[in-house]
Amino acid sequence: MAIETTARASQAPMFDPGVEKTPRPALASLQAERLRRTLEIAYANVPHYRKAFDAAGVKPADLKDRGDIAKFPFTLKTDLRDNYPFGMFAVPRDTLVRLHASSGTTGKPTVVGYTQGDIDRWSDLMARCFACAGARPGDIIHNAYGYGLFTGGLGAHYGGERLGCTVVPMSGGGTERQVQLIQDFGAHVLCATPSYALNIAEVAAGMGVDLRKSSLRLGLFGAEPWSDAMRGSIEARLGLKAVDLYGLSEIMGPGVACECGAQAGLHGWEDHFLFEVIDPKTLQPLPMGESGELVITTLTKEALPMIRYRTRDITRLSDEACACGRTHLRIMRVTGRDDDMLIIRGINVYPSQVEAVLVALPGLAPHYQLVLSREGALDAVTIEVEAASPLAEPDRARKAAEVAHHIKAMVGVTCAVVVKSPGEVPRSQGKAVRVRDMRKAPQR
Ligand SMILES: [Zn+2]
Repeated sequence: MAIETTARASQAPMFDPGVEKTPRPALASLQAERLRRTLEIAYANVPHYRKAFDAAGVKPADLKDRGDIAKFPFTLKTDLRDNYPFGMFAVPRDTLVRLHASSGTTGKPTVVGYTQGDIDRWSDLMARCFACAGARPGDIIHNAYGYGLFTGGLGAHYGGERLGCTVVPMSGGGTERQVQLIQDFGAHVLCATPSYALNIAEVAAGMGVDLRKSSLRLGLFGAEPWSDAMRGSIEARLGLKAVDLYGLSEIMGPGVACECGAQAGLHGWEDHFLFEVIDPKTLQPLPMGESGELVITTLTKEALPMIRYRTRDITRLSDEACACGRTHLRIMRVTGRDDDMLIIRGINVYPSQVEAVLVALPGLAPHYQLVLSREGALDAVTIEVEAASPLAEPDRARKAAEVAHHIKAMVGVTCAVVVKSPGEVPRSQGKAVRVRDMRKAPQR
């Protein structure tokens, strides 16, 4: 696919300009056509969908236009588990070229599969994301997403190669070596979870290396929710532009949506996915712009078509024109996953809300955990955060009170706060552990 050079030097060239700038009415008719085909294939080839559609009293032919998708049943993560391992596939197993799986904390893992066509489209979409974020052919991509059953590593890897970049397949861990190779190879683009990117910055500082002076220019960070405040912190520590990348293995893997240079929401690729936002309580679709749970239907997946998959991610959509010229709608930064939401004394709290407060306060390092415990009949939350430099006890107590005050003011809940010494909060090697649940720990 031709790389388009735009007149405005500030804009990175698009990977697939003809598609990325499709007028919205044309995009809508393409979606309707692909949606109808997807429903037919799912109904004909996947017993789960046949049963679910029949139970809801709908047939693929009932879809007259895109909006009719609301008549069709949702798909949940449990549907993948219930049909473990291969029951959700719409093609014979021997036509798959790849399997990935998520490590479930409870029960069976979620298995996803790909035909060669699926891998090709995934590579194209991830290449589209890299270009959208500002990567260019010839860049060296230091890929610290985990390789293996997790989709992050290989997803970014194939996309980087497809764009014409040189990909360094680092995976996570071995952080000192990562710092060394970023310098030695002259990496331009860093791919990692945001929490691991911070870990790399910190280890580099400990080695006496200032990565702000390195060749790194751009970071694509995803696979966990992160706040704008955290973005600021990462950009300041690594001296790069930090861009949000979105995806989930049930839908494809990384590359479902990505921010452009405007850093104002993530373009979701509507030629391959239909995005809806629903009220998670009534399950009714919400109008464009309203906040709720993101629901995604795949439009071109062969092996694993997903009909109205409930992501649990809370966000809103925007179809307003973007400065970059792409017409595909934007998914606003995910504020949290429904699954991560804590109810603290009756108030809904996402760890990322707490993060935004912590990262904005001076004197603290951007490492934290929320520790859940039980005090009598009540659940209690303690925020453990780290001082940026060693503090004497009175200063530590003063800082803790200041944090508690800001959390109360900004998030609306009263929490105990413990300010720990530098290095005391566990570091991320991939996905950060933001909540430590001690409620089921044995009593001492
Ligand atoms: Zn844009």
